[in-house]
Amino acid sequence: MRLAEPYKIKMVEPIRLIPREERVEKLKEAGYNPFLLRSEDVYIDLLTDSGTGAMSDAQWGAMMVGDESYAGSKSFYRLEKSVQDVLGYQYLIPTHQGRGAEQVLFPLIIKHSGQYVLGNMHFDTTKAHIELAKGRALNFVIEDAYDSSTYHPFKGNFDLAKMDAFIEEKTAGEIAFILITVTCNSAGGQPVSMENIRGVHEIARKHQIPLFFDAARYAENAYFIKQREEGYGDKSVQEIVREMLSYADGLTMSAKKDGLVNMGGMIAIKEDAELYTKCQSMVVPFEGFPTYGGLSGRDMEALAQGLREGVEEDYLAHRIGQVEYLGEQLRKIGVPIQYPTGGHAVFVDAKALLPHIPNLHFPAQALANELYLEGGIRGVEIGSFLLGRDPETREELISPVEFLRLTIPRRTYTNNHMDFIVDTFARILERKDEIEGVRFTYEPEILRHFTARLAPVQNLTDSHK
Ligand SMILES: *Cc1c(COP(=O)(O)O)cnc(C)c1O
Repeated sequence: MRLAEPYKIKMVEPIRLIPREERVEKLKEAGYNPFLLRSEDVYIDLLTDSGTGAMSDAQWGAMMVGDESYAGSKSFYRLEKSVQDVLGYQYLIPTHQGRGAEQVLFPLIIKHSGQYVLGNMHFDTTKAHIELAKGRALNFVIEDAYDSSTYHPFKGNFDLAKMDAFIEEKTAGEIAFILITVTCNSAGGQPVSMENIRGVHEIARKHQIPLFFDAARYAENAYFIKQREEGYGDKSVQEIVREMLSYADGLTMSAKKDGLVNMGGMIAIKEDAELYTKCQSMVVPFEGFPTYGGLSGRDMEALAQGLREGVEEDYLAHRIGQVEYLGEQLRKIGVPIQYPTGGHAVFVDAKALLPHIPNLHFPAQALANELYLEGGIRGVEIGSFLLGRDPETREELISPVEFLRLTIPRRTYTNNHMDFIVDTFARILERKDEIEGVRFTYEPEILRHFTARLAPVQNLTDSHK
């Protein structure tokens, strides 16, 4: 039986669908790049699930008792207790968000330039911080992750044999650490199985390589394990979280995801007191004194409560169920999506939907623009536009996938909003062959997708230039 949303709403933020003529105008002003739209001109905002969710009444209540002491704040100790209870790790360093944690931890565990950091699929800021610390980021996700149409319950898994073979070829000291991203954001919010995590743990132990989690979506991953992995159906999500995390030495976390806060992050360390001490001294110049890191007391209170709510099973059932619901409804009307759906987003396969648009005219970006024009909905391109050029040769790279990501904020929209999104797609399908690709009118050198300006490619002859 599918239940309704496990919450009732006691505070609302009005949203509005502006008239179509205005949407046409606004998109043009935004250079055909939805990142540059103002949120007030967006009806349903599916740009990201990062820090865009709703807090609970208990979290808002906790904020009122935040202790803003510079050192030794009560709120720090409450958050530390949540980390110990929920995650099972001893030590906590709060940071302002996930990348703050990466910036502090990675230079401490990448010992020399050129060391490898092996992951299933590194998130983009994570990869950037590995590279800033002079490391080299490599991905070992299974091939099935790139196949959007066939079912695999754990598309975030590592190819263990491939990674082990890679490590065997290297000398000790060439690998800095292994990082397991749960769920695997870049592969579509796809989970990693407990068996696979255990396998990574064994490889790491065999070669004496430190092992960490990029744990932004630790609770969603645990929920998938409960749903899909043999032997875990009767365990609580809380138990599964603790088992998962027990296999690693520590974690970085963007708390803007499963931490259920609008801003926050952390480093947590299982038991290595020496590494903890090093993090404590490194966090001071980058983020702040070790008992607040990058956070105010009230933010630490909200997170202390959010960590506990994040593993509640009725919340997770609705959360994962809502994403699945949107995916199923889209599939029913013939929209090709990454299947099965992941934890936080539906990935529409724009290449399959718009085969007439070449990769470098960015089919998923064209679809994102169409979705805004048709329904005031903002999604985000995950494809060749995001991938950018080869940093050395400056050549355009072609992404193996051209996805439009519809990211669902937590506890924010109802299934009525999901139905509206599906209706919008149904109207787009009717004239999908007329949708044109886009090309640059301004292309920034780095991280171009945030600020680039584009224009529709005028006609087919043009598009083959
Ligand atoms: C969001 C995210 C990050 C970065 O966290 P921020 O809070 O945005 O700095 C790192 N890794 C993963 C997997 C993420 O989803």
